[in-house]
Amino acid sequence: MPDEKPNLSRHARHLALAQLGATGQERISAGTALLIGVGGIGCAAASYLAASGVGHVLLSDFDTVDATNLGRQTLYGPDDVGKQKARQAATRLAQMNPDIEITAIEKRLDNAALADAVKQADVVLDGSDNFATRFQVNDACVAASTRLISGAAIRLEGQLAEFGPDYTTSPCYRCLYQEADESLENCAGNGVLGPVPGAIGTIMAIEALKHLAGIESRRGVLRLFDAISGELRSVAVAKRDDCPVCGL
Ligand SMILES: [Zn+2]
Repeated sequence: MPDEKPNLSRHARHLALAQLGATGQERISAGTALLIGVGGIGCAAASYLAASGVGHVLLSDFDTVDATNLGRQTLYGPDDVGKQKARQAATRLAQMNPDIEITAIEKRLDNAALADAVKQADVVLDGSDNFATRFQVNDACVAASTRLISGAAIRLEGQLAEFGPDYTTSPCYRCLYQEADESLENCAGNGVLGPVPGAIGTIMAIEALKHLAGIESRRGVLRLFDAISGELRSVAVAKRDDCPVCGL
C-alpha cells in the first residue's frame, strides 16, 4: 500500500476543485485509460493522465522511436531512438508517478486483443495516425459501449472527436467518417507544428478525466483547432441510421 501523503499532495489542486473534490479524484484513481498510439498526441495525453493519478494506464504502440519524432513526442529523448515507444513511455511515466499501474503493449493489436484491451478500459484515447486503426478502435469501443476520444493533428490543424459510451442514442466515429480522409494522414509528407498534437492530446486528457470523474461531457462532438487563428470550434456530429457500426 503506497503512503497516502504524496498522493494527497499531488492531487491537492484537484481536491480543491468544486467540480472534482475527493470523490472525483477517487474515481480518477480507480479508473483505467487505454491509449492507442504513444506519438505526439499520446505523449501529451499520457503525461497528464499519469500525473493526474489515473489508476491504470495502458499504452499501446508497436512502433519504435525515430529521431524525427523528438520534436513533438515529449516522453522521448535521443537515447530512446530505436527503442519501443510503449516501453519507453511506460518507463518515463512510472518515474513521473510511481503510484499508478502502467501497462505497455508493444505489438500491433488484432481485433481480439484490441477487444480485450478495450474491455479493461473506462475510456479509450485514440491518437493513432491512420484510419484503418481508428475504424478498428471505434468498432471495439461501440461493441463494448466504451467512451472513445479520438484525436488527429497535421500541419497547423488538429481535431478531436468524442463518442459514447451509449451508442444506441448517439453517434460513433464511423458516423463522422464513412471512409478514410487522406488529408488527415501522413505527418511525414505534410509536416506538423510540434505543439499541435500536444494541444490535442492535452484536451483529450481533460475530456478523459472529466469522464472518469463523472463530470458531464458532450457525446458526438467534433472539435476543430486551427493553430493559425488559435480558435477551437465545436461541431455536433449527427448519428447516421445507416452507420455500419452503430446504426439501427
Ligand atoms: Zn456510427
